Amino acid sequence: MSRIAVVGAGPAGCVATQRLVTAGHSVVLFEQGVGLDGCAAARSSASFSDALRETQLLDHSSFVTDAGDHALPYLRGRGVGGSSAVNAMAQTWGCPDDYNQWERAYGCTGWGWSSVRQEFQNLHMGSSRAVEAGRFSRAVVEAALRMGASEVQHGAGCGDGAGTVALSLVDGKRLDTFSAFVLPLLRDANTAALLEVRTECSVEAVLMEGGVAKGLVLGDGSEEQFDAVVMCAGAVWTPLLLLRSGLFGPAIGRNLQDHPSLSIIVQMAQSVEETIPEVTSLVIASSAMGESNIHLLPVNATSNGNGMQFAQLVAAVTQVSSRGSVKEVDQKAELSLRSLTTDADAEAMRAAIILASDVLAPLKESGLVVECYVDNAGTRLHELLAHDQASMARFVQRQLGAYSHVSGTCAMGASESDHAAVSTSGAVFNTQRLWVADASVFPDIPRGATQLPTMMVASRIARGVAQQLS
Ligand SMILES: Cc1cc2nc3c(=O)[nH]c(=O)nc-3n(C[C@H](O)[C@H](O)[C@H](O)COP(=O)(O)OP(=O)(O)OC[C@H]3O[C@@H](n4cnc5c(N)ncnc54)[C@H](O)[C@@H]3O)c2cc1C
Repeated sequence: MSRIAVVGAGPAGCVATQRLVTAGHSVVLFEQGVGLDGCAAARSSASFSDALRETQLLDHSSFVTDAGDHALPYLRGRGVGGSSAVNAMAQTWGCPDDYNQWERAYGCTGWGWSSVRQEFQNLHMGSSRAVEAGRFSRAVVEAALRMGASEVQHGAGCGDGAGTVALSLVDGKRLDTFSAFVLPLLRDANTAALLEVRTECSVEAVLMEGGVAKGLVLGDGSEEQFDAVVMCAGAVWTPLLLLRSGLFGPAIGRNLQDHPSLSIIVQMAQSVEETIPEVTSLVIASSAMGESNIHLLPVNATSNGNGMQFAQLVAAVTQVSSRGSVKEVDQKAELSLRSLTTDADAEAMRAAIILASDVLAPLKESGLVVECYVDNAGTRLHELLAHDQASMARFVQRQLGAYSHVSGTCAMGASESDHAAVSTSGAVFNTQRLWVADASVFPDIPRGATQLPTMMVASRIARGVAQQLS
C-alpha cells in the first residue's frame, strides 16, 4: 500500500481518489476551498445561478488577459466538487472520433474510442433529465427541429440533433463529484480508514528531489512526505503548480484549449415562467468546417428583478485548432486563450452565430422573444451579424461566453515535445512518482462539455497509478 497525495477535489481529484482508495492505497485529498458544509444549500440546488452567486464556491485567481484592454475573470469552481459544484450539469462525452484522433494524431496509444467508451461507462455518474424543459429551451429545440434537425436525447457519444441533455441531477438536486465519489468512501469504515480529506488546505508546490516527487509543500510553508503525487488541480492551476515545483517541460502551461462561445442575451416577453434547472436542452449542429462542431445551449429565463426576463442562447464552437497558454503573475493565473485565432475557428464561430440567429428568428416572430443582445452595452444580434468574419471574431474574443472548458495545458503524448508534457499514462516526463490526471492532459479538446471526459481521463490514469504502485 502506498500513501498518495491527490491535489484538488474537482471531478478529476474525486474520481482519482475513489479509484486509488478502492485499489487499497491510502490517500490524502487536498482541496484549497471549502468542504461540503460550505454553501450547502446552493451546492445541492438544481439552479446553477444559485451556485454561481456563492463567491465562496468560485476561484478568484484566474483571469483572461487577451480579451481587450482589461483582464476578465475566468470562471472556475473552488471547494470540494471543484467546478462540478457550480457548473451547468450537462453530461456529454464528446464524439468517438475525438478520442480516435488522440491516438492517430498525438500518439496516445490506448486512448481510442473503443477503450475510452468502456471507461465512460464504468464511471456510473448519476444523472437524469429535467422533468420540465422550460419554455425557452422547448422553443429553441422546436425551431431547430423545424429547420431539419433530428430529435435526440444527448448524452453518450454525440451527433447532430436537438433535444434534452443528461444532467448531473438526482432527485431534483445537483450531484457534484465529491458527493458521488468521495462521500461514499467516507461513509464506509473500510475505505474511510484509508482516506483523509483536507479542505481549506492549499498546495503550494510539489516537493521534488532529483526528479522524484517526494511530497508536497503546503500553503503554510510546511512540507509533507508522500510515496506519490497525483495532480488534479484543474487545467489552470496544475501546470502552474508544476512550474512552481521547478519542472519546466516545454509543453507545461502551453497548448491551452477552450470552446469559444458567445452568450446571446434574449429578452423574453414578460409572461414566460422561470424554470429550474436553467439548462435542460442542447442543439448540436455541423458547419462547413466540421461535423457536430457547433453547440447551441439554451439557458432558461431568470428575472432581473425589474420585472424583465432574460434567457440566454449560448453559441459555441466545440472543435477548435486555436491554442493559448497560462502563466502565473503575482499568484494569479493569467490565461491567454487566443480563441478564434485560426480562420477555421473564426469561420465556425460565424456559422454558430448565424445558426443561433436563424433559430431565434421564429421565436421573435411569435412574440416569445422581444430582442436579442450580444453584450451588456445593448449591441443587438443583427448588428453583430453585419460584421465581417474577422471583426466578429474580435467581438467574441472580448465577450468570454459561458463555456468554461479549459484543457490541454499538460497534454499527453508518446514522448516529450512542445505539445506533450506527460506520457500516455499521465506521468510527468523526466520525473518519477508524479502524475497529472485532470483536463490538463487532453491532447485535443473533445466536442462536448468537459466534466465527463475529465472524469474518464482521471479514472483511467488513477487505475494505472494504483497498479504501478501495488
Ligand atoms: C461555470 C461553468 C459551467 C460549466 N458547465 C459544464 C457543464 O454543464 N457540463 C460539463 O461537462 N462541464 C461543464 N463545465 C466544465 C467542467 O466543470 C470542468 O471541465 C471540470 O470541472 C474540470 O474538472 P477538474 O477536476 O479538471 O478541475 P476543477 O473542476 O477546476 O477542479 C480543480 C480543483 O482543484 C482545486 N485546486 C486548485 N489549485 C489548488 C491548490 N493549489 N491546492 C489545493 N486545491 C487546489 C480547486 O479549488 C478545484 O476544486 C463548466 C465549468 C464552469 C466553470
